[in-house]
Amino acid sequence: MTSTVESSLDRSQLFIGGKWTDPATSEVIEVVSPSTEEVVARVPAASPADVDRAVAAARQAFDHGPWPRMAPADRIEVMARFSGLYAARMDEMAGLITTEIGSPISFSSLAQAPAPWMMLETFLGIAREFPWEEERAGSLGAPVIVRREPVGVVAAIPPWNVPQFTTMSKLVPALLAGCTVVVKPAPESPLDGYLMAELLAEAGVPEGVVSFVAGDRETGAHLVAHPGVDKVAFTGSTAAGRKIGAVCGEQLKRVSLELGGKSAAIVLDDADLAGVTEGIKFIGLMNSGQACVAQTRILVSRRRHDEVADALGEMMRGLVVGDPHDPATDVGPMVARRQQERVEGYIDIGRQEGARMVTGGTGRPDGLDRGWFVRPTLFAGVDNGMRIAQEEIFGPVLSLIPYDDVDDAVRIANDSDYGLAGTVWTTDAEAGLDVARRVRTGTYGVNTYTMDFAAPFGGYKASGIGREFGPEGLAQYVEYKSVYTELPAG
Ligand code: NAD
Repeated sequence: MTSTVESSLDRSQLFIGGKWTDPATSEVIEVVSPSTEEVVARVPAASPADVDRAVAAARQAFDHGPWPRMAPADRIEVMARFSGLYAARMDEMAGLITTEIGSPISFSSLAQAPAPWMMLETFLGIAREFPWEEERAGSLGAPVIVRREPVGVVAAIPPWNVPQFTTMSKLVPALLAGCTVVVKPAPESPLDGYLMAELLAEAGVPEGVVSFVAGDRETGAHLVAHPGVDKVAFTGSTAAGRKIGAVCGEQLKRVSLELGGKSAAIVLDDADLAGVTEGIKFIGLMNSGQACVAQTRILVSRRRHDEVADALGEMMRGLVVGDPHDPATDVGPMVARRQQERVEGYIDIGRQEGARMVTGGTGRPDGLDRGWFVRPTLFAGVDNGMRIAQEEIFGPVLSLIPYDDVDDAVRIANDSDYGLAGTVWTTDAEAGLDVARRVRTGTYGVNTYTMDFAAPFGGYKASGIGREFGPEGLAQYVEYKSVYTELPAG
């Protein structure tokens, strides 16, 4: 369904090199509400010609402009101004993201705007302490100066599911390091980038330093392969990550990849059932299950399998599915019809594979006659070899997998192409830490999964290359330079 009514969210220009610029073509992205299926905004679709202009501006600003040459403290000052402006607009940002991708507002007002802002604040603190230029004793007796210099022009490519979160994690460390940045938002979520661009301009980021060119994967591929780009920072699917990694390998561009996951929550036998159920409601189903760190494999001992299946089934039957702008909603729509079809396809696959459906199934949830909703679905008695246990579904579908003992649980958790996240649920903190040390994932939680922006985040195996957040996340945007000095006289 489309509408020709103009929306207050419509935009006619692109933010290129810090200036509002007419697009090179008349191609338009229609932003469709996942809950009403109506067009809520139209914005220009960036073409390769727009990407070329953005990269040219970034190149010019990097090679000749003030930004990379400023003292880190001066860049920090500009970004601190940006932080203040951002803090004042967080409610608006959260609402905008709920409008464009259907993220429940209860999640958006926690993770889609305040969390990115906390990440920004944490990066400001890290940048203040970062050893931009240090003097080392040197093995030959003479001091060596080790400098961390900006990597150059950065292409930042976020996905739609947590658009500000994944833009902030690239843009902020890149800018603090002195890089210039071209952001290519996903076509499902171009609107939040407009607000972010306005705030960056207001904060006083100099001309040429930042561009936003929302567009499809061809636009993204053009940006990745552009010879003017020095580094690509990507978050998205493993399939796209492989292609981007291959191009960057060929061109010897720096690249960091934050990709998919199929994370496991291990429930130990001593775990408190109410705590587990509440925890899995969040870590398994956040953002309607459209989260890279969603823990959609629930590993439970054979002894407690049926008890946990009953408790999770009851929790999932009680979830409020509906209008994402309603604060009472737990699960909103899928981002697009294709995603709804994909999730329902996996529900059919689970049935065919012989898993027991505890609750859910295909077909619209009761009372919802439009919008790309799916029914929260729980499978029990799942074998880890099944496709529903191995492939990323990206929707509110959980699989309960029985294990024999703790060693078996760790083996199953590790039996995955992915290695992004995980949790263990237990009343014995030491036993929890022991499991945490044995599971091969980039992050892990003991009775919780709250990301900490002071610590590195990223994936083992097919979940990615490189890390975001923490000093490690800032270090992704620097080149190291060693300057040798003469031996002291005498
Ligand atoms: P996607 O890979 O289809 O697209 C991600 C972004 O890359 C979009 O902006 C898209 O236009 C662009 N793109 C796609 N192919 C490209 C190519 N060949 N060259 C350049 N750009 C290209 O992913 P999606 O459906 O938007 O996002 C969901 C995926 O993202 C899931 O797999 C999820 O697990 C992953 N994700 C990972 C993290 C993480 O931190 N590890 C965080 C959020 C989402």
